[in-house]
Amino acid sequence: MSTQDWPGALKALWRRLEISPQLWQERQLPWFAEGRVHPCYTDRFQRKQAMCAETWRAWQAMEQAAARDGIKLEIISAYRSWAQQAAIWERKLSAGQRAEEILRWNAPPGLSEHHTGRALDLAAGEHEVLAAAFAHSEAYAWLRAHAGNFGFHESYPENNTAGFQPEPWHWCWQA
Ligand SMILES: [Zn+2]
Repeated sequence: MSTQDWPGALKALWRRLEISPQLWQERQLPWFAEGRVHPCYTDRFQRKQAMCAETWRAWQAMEQAAARDGIKLEIISAYRSWAQQAAIWERKLSAGQRAEEILRWNAPPGLSEHHTGRALDLAAGEHEVLAAAFAHSEAYAWLRAHAGNFGFHESYPENNTAGFQPEPWHWCWQA
């Protein structure tokens, strides 16, 4: 496999960010096409979040089931385009971070599951968002026990093969 087969737009983004294609070849990460999404959810920061229709339906069912168990789940982040992911990298690069550091927390453009419109970053009321401590929340225990019933799985648990830091808040829907 090589980046030769990638869409030109994705290759161009990597060139612009000066990310070496080797990074992808060494780690054997899949690349993700941008999904067909529509804005459907307003998050706690009043940002519109978009996702695929199937993911939205599955989310609504899961949110309601969690609420019946006293867990108030919310979405912090859903779809991101390649360009939006590139913007995150650009911001961190201009703040002086090196690619290897950025990669610990942010996939390069094209390699984030959020491009599919099926990945959701979740939070529950009282907790700091996108923090490791979420792994000790009741909401996380609930997700571990029940999310699979709604088609959601935890993409980056401890010691994940992608080599990312654990992301207990990141759940992806698959039919
Ligand atoms: Zn995520």
